Amino acid sequence: MQQGLFGDESVAQNCIFCKIIAGKAPAHILYQDEQVLSFLDISPVSAGHSLIIPTNHHDNIFSLSGEEITAVALHAKRLAPVVKRVTKSPGLAIHQLNGRAAGQTVFHYHMHLIPCQHDTPKQLHGRRAASQSALAELAVEIRQALTKA
Ligand code: AMP
Ligand code: ZN
Repeated sequence: MQQGLFGDESVAQNCIFCKIIAGKAPAHILYQDEQVLSFLDISPVSAGHSLIIPTNHHDNIFSLSGEEITAVALHAKRLAPVVKRVTKSPGLAIHQLNGRAAGQTVFHYHMHLIPCQHDTPKQLHGRRAASQSALAELAVEIRQALTKA
């Protein structure tokens, strides 16, 4: 996380996703490098619902650099087929919200990857928190599959 990019340390201190990047909040992490981090959504629409974020804080797409959005997209290209395969899903939805008016609820840019069965509800957000043990188990499976992808 480069706090200098947004010039306001309080943003990073209050941003739950920056806290996850800094290791100061828990998450079921799937992958991490200098530019991106992916982890399981705490309140998934379906099993395997994952989020990809840039490691630099940006509220939304409007301040994201080309390099940062490219890093997110390249990771999505690698993670999506793995999540789809591990969850045995025939489809996978990707969405990304910018601004409260669009329904964004966490103001650190993120891309959603949502594995879809035919009967998966076509909704943007899950309704309840998943069990921590189920998330932990799935994260292990996805991490292992990702290392072979
Ligand atoms: P959005 O409405 O696009 O901003 O989506 C925010 C997403 O972040 C929702 O799907 C939440 O369930 C998810 N979320 C919020 N806090 C956490 C967290 N601490 N760990 C994992 N996912 C989270
Ligand atoms: Zn942040």
